[in-house]
Parts: sequence; C-alpha cells; structure tokens
Amino acid sequence: MSNPILEIVKDRPLLFDGAMGTMLMKAGKVALKTPILLNLDEPDLVTDIHRQYYAAGADVAITNTFGGSPLKLVADGLEEQMAALNRAAVKLARQACPDGKYVGGDIGPSGKMLKPLGDAAPEDVQASFFSQAEVLIEGGVDLIIIETMFSLEEALAAVRGVKKAGDILLLASMTYTKTPNGFFTMMGETVSQCTAALEEAGADMTGANCTLNSTDTIDLTKELRAATDRPILIQPNAGKPVTSEGVTYYEQTPAEFAADARKIHAAGADMIGGCCGTTPEFIKAVKELLADG
Ligand SMILES: [Zn+2]
Repeated sequence: MSNPILEIVKDRPLLFDGAMGTMLMKAGKVALKTPILLNLDEPDLVTDIHRQYYAAGADVAITNTFGGSPLKLVADGLEEQMAALNRAAVKLARQACPDGKYVGGDIGPSGKMLKPLGDAAPEDVQASFFSQAEVLIEGGVDLIIIETMFSLEEALAAVRGVKKAGDILLLASMTYTKTPNGFFTMMGETVSQCTAALEEAGADMTGANCTLNSTDTIDLTKELRAATDRPILIQPNAGKPVTSEGVTYYEQTPAEFAADARKIHAAGADMIGGCCGTTPEFIKAVKELLADG
C-alpha cells in the first residue's frame, strides 16, 4: 500500500497528538461520561483542541470518537446518533487540519468482554467496529487508529471490521502492562503474539498506548521493534493521575516526557504521541527535542 504517511516515516519521526480527555478536563468538562457528544454540542471546543495539537507540531490528530462504536454507545442510549457523532468528529478534525497534515479516525474498545469471559460474540463486536469505521472512512479520515485495546481478540475483531469497511491505512495499538516477567496485555498476551496476529489480520502498522508512563515504555518499544519491520506508534501516558484538593494532574512534566520520547525514538519508534495526561505542551516538547536530533 502506497501512502504519504508510510513515506514520511521512512524519513523522520511522525508526531501524533496528545490526549483529548485531558484537554476537555482542562476546559472544565470534568468526568464527562460521553465526551463524544461534544462533537455536536460544543464543536468549537473540539476543533480548538485539534488546532492546538497541530500548532504544537502534531502531524496527525485523532478524532474525538474513542467511544463511538455502536456497542459502546448503546450503553448510554446514544446508538441512534452513532453516524452523526462520528461524522461530526471527522468534520471537526478536518477543519483544524492544515495542508500536509493528517486526520486519524479513532476507534476505542467496545466496553464488552468477548465470549467465553464475557457475553459478546466476536462477530457482533466486529460488526459494531465495521459500522463505526464505515462512517469514519466515508467522512474522509486519512487512516484509522484502533487503540487502547486490552484484549487481542477484541483488537482483531476491530481490525477485521475496519478491513471490511474499506481500503484505508490501518494502525492497531494495544495497551500493555509491565510485570516482572515482561510486558503483557490485561488478557496475558505478549507483544510478539499481538503484533503478529494484528498484522496477519490486516493491520498495516501496530503500536502501544496508555497505562505505562514514558520511562517504562522505552523497554516496551524495544520489544515492539523486535517484533516487526513495519512502522510502530508509541503513545505513553504522562505518568499516573494524582488528585490533590480536587484537582487531577499527571506525574510527568513535558520535559521528562520529551527526554524519554527521544529514547523511545532511538529504540525504534517511527511514530510518537501521547495518551492520558499529555497536552499540547508535551507534544511541543517532544517535537523540539526530536528536531534537535
Ligand atoms: Zn491513555
């Protein structure tokens, strides 16, 4: 597959954006249960956050559609708005996107456990992701990013759903935790197991995001790098959330995060961004340090 994004990563690190939820919290949307509703209710706020990330140096911003699959929306009675919410999200990111930069359509977990641990049939989960991906692709995203997946089975259902929805560059990012025995998903799957299975199912690129801070992610990057020759995306959290006197902040500073990002890049990450707790200041700091070489 020939794609401008695949060409860029041969030359230089591609920067992704940071957290949407953290920025919404900063804007006073504390503990919002369904941030996806803001795509219709407060579009200017969402567009402004995308603009801030592009201005900070992000090459790719991710749509505000983390909870936008029908199965996830049904839990909040929003399934009938699925198409409208996802379509609006692509439009808002597109409005903010300068020439030469990109919009990634975001797909997060369904919130369901697959059988036999849970009650969701894999084909239903796949159909749900298919429906969301169809709207995102039709809306005009440049790539799709499946992210924060704790279960390989669910991530595979998402990859298969997206592949069925259309011909689009596809990145699948898992969430790993660090144990004394190495890095594993919550379901106990290894990095090499996930990477091989996701690529086999049709993911063009893979990665890791959320839960781990940037320092712990350096070793994880090495494992991912060893598992594939294709581009990899690394999006750590800014440490753990700490709540003090009702205010939540994250442990790491933009400077600490950026210093680690340089090591993550040296360990083989072609694409770097931020997950929970990161803001445009983090992306700007990463951009500056990586530009320094
Ligand atoms: Zn996160």
